[in-house]
Amino acid sequence: MTSSITPTAHLERVYKLLVAAYGEPRNEPDYDPLGGLVGTILSQHTSDINSERAYKQLIATFPTWEEVRDAPTDQVAEAIRSGGLANIKAPRIQDVLLTLTEQQRKQEGKKTLSAYLSDELGKRSTEEAWQYLRNLPGVGPKTAACVLMFNLNRPAMPVDTHVHRVSRRLGLIGAKVSADQAHLVYAKITPPEWVYPLHVNLITHGRQVCHAQRPACLDCTLYDECLYAGSITPQEMNTSN
Ligand code: SF4
Repeated sequence: MTSSITPTAHLERVYKLLVAAYGEPRNEPDYDPLGGLVGTILSQHTSDINSERAYKQLIATFPTWEEVRDAPTDQVAEAIRSGGLANIKAPRIQDVLLTLTEQQRKQEGKKTLSAYLSDELGKRSTEEAWQYLRNLPGVGPKTAACVLMFNLNRPAMPVDTHVHRVSRRLGLIGAKVSADQAHLVYAKITPPEWVYPLHVNLITHGRQVCHAQRPACLDCTLYDECLYAGSITPQEMNTSN
């Protein structure tokens, strides 16, 4: 993931049209990647409200990540019950915490787990940090990108179902590029300062206009930029993916 990227004319027009339609949202990172990672695991397959409630209950029950790591798994599951799939998420969270502990032990470090993860990510490039997070147990490409983008304001684009669908229809990524592959494609084509607003606006557009079934093409601000609607040619697409 490079620090300076010139977007294609097509991506630039899409970006500006999305900003005109939905504004240019600003990120508010908290620089707490371990909290973000646990929160992202809790958010899988549930609503934001439920996962936030589970997160608050978890840190109220166990004030440090070391206590979460060392607690009986059924007590961790009980604390996050409101987030759903507690019996799957509790061991997954503890696995991540144990893995970080083991890594630090090999380096003979004595930091908190929070400080350890922050430092490990801070000394890596965005792509290296993304790969590092992906190597933790149960952490997929989207979760890794969420932590980097939301919590650390790093230019890693999380590709969820909305971002993936809208991106393919617009021709920003190739028709055969999977959501997992799209993370690396976006790293090559998006100026770093566009990553967060583009992510948020593509999701908004996917929810409000470019639905999975029956997209509202005739009301779409991106109609003239869309491969799916037949308004751009494959030659105008990004060709780097
Ligand atoms: S024109 Fe239709 S398919 Fe294309 S982005 Fe807009 S809603 Fe989606």
